[in-house]
Amino acid sequence: MKTRWYFDNNATTPVRPEVVEAMLPWLLERYGNASSVHSFGREARSALEESREKIATLIGAGRNELFFTGCGTESDNIALMGTLMSAPPGRNTVVTTAIEHSAVLNTARVLEQRGYRAVFVGVDSESMVDLDALRAAVGPDTALVSVMHANNETGVIQPVAEIAGIAHAAGALFHTDAVQSTGKVSIDVEAMGIDMLSMSAHKLNAQKGIGALYIRKGVTVTPITYGGHHEHGVRPGTENVAGAVGFACAVELAVAGMDDERRKLSSLRDRLERGIAASVPNIHFNGRAADRLPGTSNISFPGVDGEALLISMDMEGIAVSTGSACSAGDVEPSHVLTAMGIDPRTATSSLRFSMGWGSSDEGVDHILTVLPGIVERLRSVSAGVDSGK
Ligand code: PLP
Repeated sequence: MKTRWYFDNNATTPVRPEVVEAMLPWLLERYGNASSVHSFGREARSALEESREKIATLIGAGRNELFFTGCGTESDNIALMGTLMSAPPGRNTVVTTAIEHSAVLNTARVLEQRGYRAVFVGVDSESMVDLDALRAAVGPDTALVSVMHANNETGVIQPVAEIAGIAHAAGALFHTDAVQSTGKVSIDVEAMGIDMLSMSAHKLNAQKGIGALYIRKGVTVTPITYGGHHEHGVRPGTENVAGAVGFACAVELAVAGMDDERRKLSSLRDRLERGIAASVPNIHFNGRAADRLPGTSNISFPGVDGEALLISMDMEGIAVSTGSACSAGDVEPSHVLTAMGIDPRTATSSLRFSMGWGSSDEGVDHILTVLPGIVERLRSVSAGVDSGK
């Protein structure tokens, strides 16, 4: 098979062999239901609780404060809906930002349709949340402030401790979507004042289909689905024991290798960005001046159609993603890039390169070899179209 290079780790990540290895016994031989009383059930329960403890430790939480969910999206839904539904009378507002993942944005919009209030605070040109606007938006009617830790498109990291302080000063709770940052940068829910935090296993080299929500002890969240007493009723449904074991294994590997991985990825990313800046004229780095995740780079190539660029790169074996989303056949510019003040046309000419555990110098070299020619060709095509040639 033709060699392929994966530069889309913010979409999902390859599962590490150690994770598969750790999960296998819990699929093949030790498949009990963690709620059963017999030995199959008891061993499943202890594996589940051990995994919970390991993941909770990653973020400085207690084991009883971590609840398994089906994915990051579900964690976000429980945090937003569950908090608003259990908020005291008069606190009917969620304050969030314009650059959240759709798991938060669309949940906030549904809450609006159900009679709650949602405020979407803007960001600056580097995608940093406007803290003055946030302060002005948060008040006695705010139940929850939800601001993501690291953005999935730009990798930009928000000052969550400061934002938590703003929420708490108004008597509101603070939730952060840390789906992109867990395992990549240190998180301490105590030191950062976080009341709720969402995570997802498939973004840190474990499998898809399991996430977690940290809920600080004492915080009440109304469930959004109903069933048995699993996960203390926060997320009913038979627990995914093998999934939890894989998640915990990936977390341990991520923590053990965090410093090395950060060095490796920042150096790959810087080399990629320097190389592209030197070989492709008229480009713009999005979010580069801010504190970013080590492996994420978002670049606009004005005059180039982002979808055509993605397809041309794919034909060279390079997987990246664009700063746009296809909805109903139309290409919509990324809401993150437009919130940063980037015009819609430039936003649709943007690419996200996201590196991770399997990324290598070889992949960066290959990008640097093929990208300048592709951009030049696509620019000449679009200049021809624009001038009617
Ligand atoms: N939040 C952020 C910031 C994400 O990047 C993603 C996935 O892309 C999600 C939430 C949703 O996570 P999941 O795919 O586990 O539902």
